[in-house]
Amino acid sequence: MKRMPAKNFSDGEMVMGRWPGSHLYYEVQVTGYNKSTQLYAVKYKDGTELNLKESDVKPLNYFRTKKTPSRSSSRQRSRSRSHSPARTQTPKRSTSRGRETKKRVQKEEVQKEELPAVKPVHWENITNSKTTYVSDNKEEKEENNTKNIYRVVEHKTRREIVTDQLGLPYNLRARKEEGKHIELERKDACLRVKKQSLQTPEREFGGRVGAFFMIFLLPVTLILLLLMCAEDNASILSFPPPIPALQTLWSSTALGIFVLWFLFQALLYLLPIGKVVEGVPLANGKTLKYRINAFYAFLLCAAALGAALYNEVNLSYIYDNLLQLAIAAMVFSLLLSIYLYVRSWRVPADELAPGGNSGSFVYDFFIGRELNPRIKNFDLKYFCELRPGLMGWVVINLGLLFAEMSVQGRDIPSLAMILVNSFQLLYVLDALWNEAAILTTMDIVHDGFGYMLTFGDLVWVPFAYSLQAFYLVNHPNELSWPVALAIIALNTVGYIVFRGANSQKNAFRRNPHDPKLAHLKTIPTATGKSLLVSGWWGFVRHPNYLGDLIMALAWSLPCGFTHILPYFYVIYFTCLLIHREARDEHQCRKKYGVAWNQYCQQVRYRIFPYIY
Ligand code: NDP
Repeated sequence: MKRMPAKNFSDGEMVMGRWPGSHLYYEVQVTGYNKSTQLYAVKYKDGTELNLKESDVKPLNYFRTKKTPSRSSSRQRSRSRSHSPARTQTPKRSTSRGRETKKRVQKEEVQKEELPAVKPVHWENITNSKTTYVSDNKEEKEENNTKNIYRVVEHKTRREIVTDQLGLPYNLRARKEEGKHIELERKDACLRVKKQSLQTPEREFGGRVGAFFMIFLLPVTLILLLLMCAEDNASILSFPPPIPALQTLWSSTALGIFVLWFLFQALLYLLPIGKVVEGVPLANGKTLKYRINAFYAFLLCAAALGAALYNEVNLSYIYDNLLQLAIAAMVFSLLLSIYLYVRSWRVPADELAPGGNSGSFVYDFFIGRELNPRIKNFDLKYFCELRPGLMGWVVINLGLLFAEMSVQGRDIPSLAMILVNSFQLLYVLDALWNEAAILTTMDIVHDGFGYMLTFGDLVWVPFAYSLQAFYLVNHPNELSWPVALAIIALNTVGYIVFRGANSQKNAFRRNPHDPKLAHLKTIPTATGKSLLVSGWWGFVRHPNYLGDLIMALAWSLPCGFTHILPYFYVIYFTCLLIHREARDEHQCRKKYGVAWNQYCQQVRYRIFPYIY
């Protein structure tokens, strides 16, 4: 039986941690230990967090060695070092060269040397990992050309180059041997980084306990909201609402309609119309292709809906059976999540989401294990994100508009209902028109596809986001034109901020050298990507959330101020985006380290300027 190694380093201890794929060791702090994977979570001085194997972690004094006399003056050695792939910038070394020591450690040569402070590097000049580029530090250029060349060797990532300059590395291998090991090391690094990304070191949403409660809390909340909204007195003070008999909540017809709707959308998704674009490169190095045809699908849906209305199909069914439809959608999303969880055990390990592989069934089921589950070219997450739920929301809103006319005996819908329908239609059309922009969002790039997203996409969005329209059916609110115009102005401002911010980031991520963005200031990061620090992203750190929240308020205001229920969306959405912002911030700090801190220093507010 394999013996489990004991934990040799404690949390908070400073140790030397090997940088994956190199022989370089840096001072790192142990932040945790995973017994099942036997990996240490460590934090580098630049803020980078990784999981390291026991063998890649050494005590702090491990490299303290006796001084050796002198190979320091060897010119040959000096030259050979300057071309070493693991080469870092060296200080003036002609006479008072930094300490250089040598020691046998497990048959390997140890060397240690002092390094100067980080020198400026123009990351924008790097186009790919094979590029050679030169520091523009004039003083150095004059001093020694060889020393000034930062050679980005094939096996070395940009992150390593910067990290090399951020700390004191210790090279465990004789330099003459290094060339031989380049290829092996590259493969080893890829494997190790992949393996490390497999196990989720930390858990969000309160871990497995939080996930467990969310799985039940979300459907219960939605059912209660819909029940309360249907009451004449839609006050939260009259909580709990009367609970209908269980058998009335279930309708096979509603499930049939939902499944047909889902399949109809899937059919539209498969139509070979619209261009095919590439998503952003994933952590495993792969890039997936996506067909962009959601807007066409919407037009076809609208035509089908128009034909149905022309043939006197009664959309009031939606209002009469909203709860049953929502429950059918819940059952469907639960079954889909189970399918997704089961199939995730059959996919290659590098296709798992970074956050959905904690080892806890409940947590992983909730968060989603697989990053981009696909059946052949059919991308389940990408499909669910924008189509059945978002378009379903529009159809539900329309059904509620007809219901309002019928319940209140109106010839035309109320101004409030028209505003709610129009604002939300604009939001959906915008998402469908800018379909490709979703490819750079957290949902696609980072989150797995599990219960959280299936429920969110298929149930929460269409049934909770239509709460204002549902409320207006039974709670009329007559709006004057000046008030309506003020609300329209608010929605327009929100939309401009939301769209401007999302488009700017999307364009920048797709092509950082886009001439249209040349006026924007950026901060380089160790990953090779830059961060926008002016324009919308210099205003607050999440301007797109700000715009979204302004719009959310504009969607609730037409419902008046009698009850708080129609404001549920804006309250919930504020909490969601504040939490989401914190999650994203955490991820970005891990990804970008010091560069992210620099960004935060320059752009002080997260979402609301001068407030938060
Ligand atoms: P974002 O589109 O805000 O993406 C966050 C990512 O953007 C970061 O992880 C980072 O990724 C990149 N980024 C952050 N700061 C910068 C910067 N300064 N310069 C360049 N890139 C930066 O995330 P979301 O997916 O959360 O939101 C997308 C949209 O969807 C938003 O408008 C949001 O309001 C909306 N939304 C709506 C919901 C709804 O229910 N209606 C729910 C959730 C979101 P990297 O650097 O890796 O590219």
